[in-house]
Amino acid sequence: MGQETNLCTIIGSGPAGYTAAIYAARAGLKPQLFTGKEPGGQLMITNDVENYPGYPEGIMGPQMMADFQKQAERFDTEIFSEMITEVDFSGPIHKLMSESGREILTHTVVISTGASAKWLGLESETRLMNKGVSACAVCDGFFFKGQEVIVVGGGDTAAEEATYLAKLCPTVHLLVRRDEMRASKIMQKRVLNTSNIQVHWNTSTVEVLGEEEVTGAKVINNVTKEESVINGSGFFVAIGHKPNTGIFKDWLEMNEAGYLITGADSTTTKVPGVFASGDAQDHVYRQAVTAAGTGCMAALDAERYLAANEII
Ligand code: NDP
Repeated sequence: MGQETNLCTIIGSGPAGYTAAIYAARAGLKPQLFTGKEPGGQLMITNDVENYPGYPEGIMGPQMMADFQKQAERFDTEIFSEMITEVDFSGPIHKLMSESGREILTHTVVISTGASAKWLGLESETRLMNKGVSACAVCDGFFFKGQEVIVVGGGDTAAEEATYLAKLCPTVHLLVRRDEMRASKIMQKRVLNTSNIQVHWNTSTVEVLGEEEVTGAKVINNVTKEESVINGSGFFVAIGHKPNTGIFKDWLEMNEAGYLITGADSTTTKVPGVFASGDAQDHVYRQAVTAAGTGCMAALDAERYLAANEII
């Protein structure tokens, strides 16, 4: 007897992956879900989630992901704590290879591998993660209401995070490593016209300061080489995200930054039976609730594909 072919295999275990699993399982597709190396995805490094509807008191990110997982398992999703390391989308049946050498054959694939925030790579940044260091102002900004904060970066994300925080905080220090911002003109204008955003040009972070929680940052002026300290209880790193899509580069269309390209109003990719959802595909909204939404769409698209091809 040959190897069994899955109806639906899901790669990734953030809100998109688990939501796809819930829908696929309830549709009788007996999905297998591979969690990847960071089970639960970016929400595992978020404290309170207060903007996901249905949790009026908010919920801790890791707890929320445990609940997502429980709900997916309740409907018979088979979960593997493994990475998918290789894919082969050359035939009508798709092949996936896991890190342990398992080969998976599947009619449909839902990609929900997410994106990872880029970090500066400082020891102090890692140590103070969730103790004032964050990569998401929309998620964590509220906890710094009324306090002085620091944002690092000069792109659209940093500009957006700084203007968002400026509505909550008396002073936002924006650290830009060059003498100009990479952000679009309109975003730059918005930053420069916001009176409580103080831009520190040519400035890089030497160290995030604080023992138990962030108290500020030691910075260096890249031109004068002068070091100084900027106070702040929040330290937001906004130097970009990297979608986790490397293993698909030979098979699927992606934009310059590596985000997977899907059809209009759907999660279809150029490969029949392969669907993309969540932050691996969405570089604009990047919220748990939107990721869950596209995960749902991907499962529905997979189900329709299987029915249209008379596989179910
Ligand atoms: P970008 O790659 O555009 O910008 C990253 C910024 O971080 C740059 O200013 C870069 O500096 C700086 N940076 C990188 N590494 C470091 C470091 N180690 N230390 C200090 N600074 C560093 O990323 P974004 O996330 O801002 O944007 C990604 C894409 O998403 C862009 O295409 C953007 O336009 C888009 N986007 C659009 C939005 C919108 O339209 N509303 C909102 C958010 C993003 P340098 O310039 O010197 O390299």
